[in-house]
Amino acid sequence: MNTASGADLKFAASLSRLGTESAFVVLARAQELAAQGRDIINLGIGQPDFRTPDHVVEAAIRALRDGAHGYTPANGLPALREAVAADLNRRHGVEVDPDCVVVVPGAKPTMFFAVLMFGEPGAEIMYPDPGFPIYESVIRYSGARPVPIVLREENGFAFSAEEVLSQITERTRLIILNSPANPTGGVVPRAEIDRLVEGLMRHPHVAILSDEIYSCLLYDGRRHVSLLQYPELRDRLIMLDGWSKTYAMTGWRLGYAVWPKSCVEHVVRLCINDHSCVNAATQFAGIAALTGPQDAVDEMRARFDERRRIIVQGLNALPGIGCLEPGGAFYAFPNITGTGLTSREAQDLFLEEAGVATVSGTSFGAHGEGYLRFSYASSAENIREALDRIRQLLERRMG
Ligand code: PMP
Repeated sequence: MNTASGADLKFAASLSRLGTESAFVVLARAQELAAQGRDIINLGIGQPDFRTPDHVVEAAIRALRDGAHGYTPANGLPALREAVAADLNRRHGVEVDPDCVVVVPGAKPTMFFAVLMFGEPGAEIMYPDPGFPIYESVIRYSGARPVPIVLREENGFAFSAEEVLSQITERTRLIILNSPANPTGGVVPRAEIDRLVEGLMRHPHVAILSDEIYSCLLYDGRRHVSLLQYPELRDRLIMLDGWSKTYAMTGWRLGYAVWPKSCVEHVVRLCINDHSCVNAATQFAGIAALTGPQDAVDEMRARFDERRRIIVQGLNALPGIGCLEPGGAFYAFPNITGTGLTSREAQDLFLEEAGVATVSGTSFGAHGEGYLRFSYASSAENIREALDRIRQLLERRMG
């Protein structure tokens, strides 16, 4: 007889290899504390605190009213894929075939599909550490061996091309790169990318997944270097970007990647098996975002930049904490070793005792120990108040 306990269920072994994104765990705890009446400042979750621009919302409403209620092509509406190609031309000066653009629900599905396409037992996949935790999680899930690319504070959290190249073996199938980066805010200099691309010419069996989801969030006049700007890589480059961060659309679930021609049929089949297509109205919103006015993007970037200065200066004024100035994204990743706390201790203490949610560096890989991620996608007022509370807490503890 079936029972409701679930005690007889036999789960696949692969499930035990699947990790998670701890920012969501911290968010749940922060919400729990807030529900108990605690005043919580959330610098934990990585999402813009702005609304999606009105004209984008209107486009979705219009699409729903006009009857966009059915399936679309699995790879996305042709008009949306053309808008993506035009946007990439405008921003990065590159030519992209709209047939190589595959639209998916958010940035994450591209990661999952790319890793499933190349990962299996016996294969190796390289990924940044500290880095977005989903990379390592899905690599392990695929059965491939995860090989960390260690990112160091003294290099501004950029990879060393030489180190990456030296770790390539005949089993390496895929290298995951991310600039501007989560959780460090690091931006890889063009010269380092040049060196990597040059070296990759000796390893034609290796595909690259370049996560460029923060490509619109660079500061101090930096220009984004897209791997699409290297024609010699095109036949093995998967370039991922999307709407979540640029247009404050995390909840809409819309993203895309430019795939090598040889991969398109495989990824489209994965889409058909997984989700059929992205919600049609959301795709119309995506067209409006790319083809409409971009002032909201510039405005959000300017606001993030102001907060970046406030948080970096504030963190560096705290006892035991030192913070590099991040060149992109909306994260600060201070070194907290001077506080005598481990990353996890600092995360828990700051949340439970100061009411400030941050994420332990170890949530982003073993090499995140000694660091804490602060998302500055929150108001300047919240950031100042959070830093003040942490200061009081540290001064109490450190005497
Ligand atoms: N890549 C990176 C580096 C990210 O930081 C995030 C979100 N935090 C994503 C991808 C996921 O984006 P989406 O919500 O569009 O799936």
